[in-house]
Amino acid sequence: MSKRSIIVIGGGLGGLSTGIYALMNDYNVTIFERNPVPGGLAACWRRKQYLIDGGIHFIAGYKPGLSLYRIFEEVGAHKAEYVGLEVYARYIDETSQRSIDISADLDKFQNDLLSLFPKDKRIIKHFIKGIRGMAKSDISEFGFKKPMELMKTKDWIVEFWQNRKSLRYFLGKSLMEVKDYVEKIKDPMFRELLLNMFLPEVPVAFLWMILSFVYQKQLGVLKKGSFDFVKKLENRFLELGGTIKYRSQVDDILVKDDKAVGVILEDGSAFNSDFVISAIDGYNVIFNMLEGKYVNEKIKNRYKNWKVVEPFVCISFGVDMEFKDEVWMTFFKTPNPVQVANEDKFLTMIRFFNYSPSFAPEGKTVIQVDFETEWEYWFELSKDKKRYNEEKNKLVDQVIKWLEKRYPGISKKIEVTDVATPYTFWRYTLNQKGAYMGFLPSSKTFYASVEKELPGLDCFYMTGQWAMTTGGVQTVIYSGRHAIELLCHNEGKVFKTLK
Ligand SMILES: Cc1cc2nc3c(=O)[nH]c(=O)nc-3n(C[C@H](O)[C@H](O)[C@H](O)COP(=O)(O)OP(=O)(O)OC[C@H]3O[C@@H](n4cnc5c(N)ncnc54)[C@H](O)[C@@H]3O)c2cc1C
Repeated sequence: MSKRSIIVIGGGLGGLSTGIYALMNDYNVTIFERNPVPGGLAACWRRKQYLIDGGIHFIAGYKPGLSLYRIFEEVGAHKAEYVGLEVYARYIDETSQRSIDISADLDKFQNDLLSLFPKDKRIIKHFIKGIRGMAKSDISEFGFKKPMELMKTKDWIVEFWQNRKSLRYFLGKSLMEVKDYVEKIKDPMFRELLLNMFLPEVPVAFLWMILSFVYQKQLGVLKKGSFDFVKKLENRFLELGGTIKYRSQVDDILVKDDKAVGVILEDGSAFNSDFVISAIDGYNVIFNMLEGKYVNEKIKNRYKNWKVVEPFVCISFGVDMEFKDEVWMTFFKTPNPVQVANEDKFLTMIRFFNYSPSFAPEGKTVIQVDFETEWEYWFELSKDKKRYNEEKNKLVDQVIKWLEKRYPGISKKIEVTDVATPYTFWRYTLNQKGAYMGFLPSSKTFYASVEKELPGLDCFYMTGQWAMTTGGVQTVIYSGRHAIELLCHNEGKVFKTLK
């Protein structure tokens, strides 16, 4: 019997994962990707002798030990090189001259917190207990083992039983958003520390989960950058016999009698397939390409009321200096603001790519300053290229001025400057509002589900960061796995994963 064919729209991590699992299950797969390279948001680019990584910050579960590791093996990501993190981040309050490392050594972290913020003893103990509690079970695949659509009551019972030691840290008050959790904290620096560990809207359980990975030495950064990780998935896809067509933007989805039958590219060429799987921006697909014909109230509500993550402006510098004493990521609370898109920012996040020689020649370093910023501001500005460039330069000048105070002499050592705004992220990936992770994770969405199919449309599935409650590397890899498992189920086939 000839193999059934699948067209995947988008060659980001979600699309590659979808393609890999589809090939493992004997489908013919073609991915259409608008860029000349795969990876989407997990992007790196060269500037002179420097490698700028504008993608993935950190990855959990990258080595054997947690059940999550199986997806790394399945998609080939175990072949990427990682550097384990001993410190999740450093936080420096320039006004009070205090600093703390969020260390994998929880006893040390707790002691440091207690000595800095003695008045917050009770909440510190509670917070550390939450991290330890999360590490009592292997929670790394909690809710991800199967697609939600196929989870039966007995699967949930097994899931809860296996994670019973950590369960209480996922429920009730653990779902309180960090911004509410910090309200009782007395020391403003401690409050800011928690607010900025990830995003203020995430449930405190989410912070515990990330820090439990740090504690278990299961959080790492990519030694050769995001694109190396992407290449491992692309290699896996090609080894399994998949086809990727680059510079091929899909403009429309062909639908016949409420069944997806192929796609039309920007140049007008049409391609047919038995199934179409979208791994690109959800709004664009559902409301533009499919004209909003295949929605229900749940989908409409999601796109109307769920927030998307606020995008970044990333300012990268290639510097002829070493930063040996710096940890890979530091948050600086500054007494004076940097003005970013009409907002005063008192927090500056810096990534120091000092953990691997892949990013810069010996003795030199890439450093990257990231600010969360408004999409609308940069999008409007992008319509006037002169003003857009002036604004980028103004921002760079402010950042260099601040860096010079912190690292005297740095301004003369900067060899390369690169600015990626939310508009840059949008232009490159077409993700709405330049969102780097899809929907904003919050306590409202923590236990929500996003179906992989649209009501009334056959032979069509969705994967990637808009097909999950939020994005992230592992999440989008699971999204591909889930869609293919669901497709196999719908076709009465046993779902397979080769190793
Ligand atoms: C700066 C940054 C830091 C991050 N840090 C982390 C982190 O620390 N940990 C973590 O887990 N995650 C992190 N993420 C998030 C993670 O990288 C993303 O959630 C994930 O890569 C999204 O993958 P995706 O395939 O769903 O989407 P995308 O990467 O957006 O892929 C979609 C692809 O489709 C293509 N495309 C779009 N429209 C079309 C079309 N019409 N036709 C053909 N092709 C099309 C795009 O070019 C793109 O290649 C970060 C992201 C960024 C940008």
